[in-house]
Amino acid sequence: MGCDGGSIPKRDELVKQKQKKVRMDPNMLSKERWTMCALSKRPLAVPIAACGLGRLYNRDAVIEFLLDRSVYGDGDVICSHIKSLKDVVALKLEPNPAVSEKHSSSPGHADQELLAQFICPVTRKEMNGKQRFVFIDTCGCVLSELALKEVPSQTCVQCGKAFEQDNVIVINPKPEEHEIMKANLAIKQARKEAEKDKKKKDKAAKKEAKREANGSSPKESSSSGSKRKLDTASEQDHHKKTKTSTTTLPIAPASATHALTAAVAAKVAEQMAANANRHKSLAIQSLYSSKTKA
Ligand SMILES: [Zn+2]
Repeated sequence: MGCDGGSIPKRDELVKQKQKKVRMDPNMLSKERWTMCALSKRPLAVPIAACGLGRLYNRDAVIEFLLDRSVYGDGDVICSHIKSLKDVVALKLEPNPAVSEKHSSSPGHADQELLAQFICPVTRKEMNGKQRFVFIDTCGCVLSELALKEVPSQTCVQCGKAFEQDNVIVINPKPEEHEIMKANLAIKQARKEAEKDKKKKDKAAKKEAKREANGSSPKESSSSGSKRKLDTASEQDHHKKTKTSTTTLPIAPASATHALTAAVAAKVAEQMAANANRHKSLAIQSLYSSKTKA
């Protein structure tokens, strides 16, 4: 192109053309997308995150943005699809060993900038925009697309976690892919919302069912843990009761609520009433033996 001493540059090469080229150079644009945080426009630094549209961010910048959506001028335009940290995936990137080697031997900045920070752990290709790279949104591993195609697998070749085709997100996709990715992301988000709704409804239904089952104990918490607690508590107290064979209320464990205690007491009282019909000592003996057998 000239200026290298071997040829005489033409005027348009130096003035008109050059300016045009700097502005339109897709490599320059591409390089920026691979080296700069799409949000803060600062150089990418670990920890790095990516969104469903395949953009790269400094995770710290995403957090800052979530705390104040106006902190990065156009952030709300670029990241309108990011509502929480769950909308980005923390990436697991393979550092480029050449970078650290160069760094220790010569701190030449120009050289450093030519090298990509990360490589594909399988093909060892640099992640500099010349190769297509993808990340898997279930585990966050970053690979070249080639590696994924050459080693077809239902589990991540890097960490072994299972994934499906729609978990593979292209990093910095071509402009023509952007709309497809946007549509895919919308579908995924809608599916997630539906799942969340379903979980909420299921939880509410379970809560309702348990409340009905427990009847007169509205204070009782309805988690499955407390149900188990109720069972073990009644068993323990029953055991205690039969052993001591006193008529006082059983001592509920500290974790049980008053309602729980009442429920257990009622159960034990019922048992005691039934036993009282028989000969007392016989009843106690039989309970003892049945307990020790069980
Ligand atoms: Zn993985």
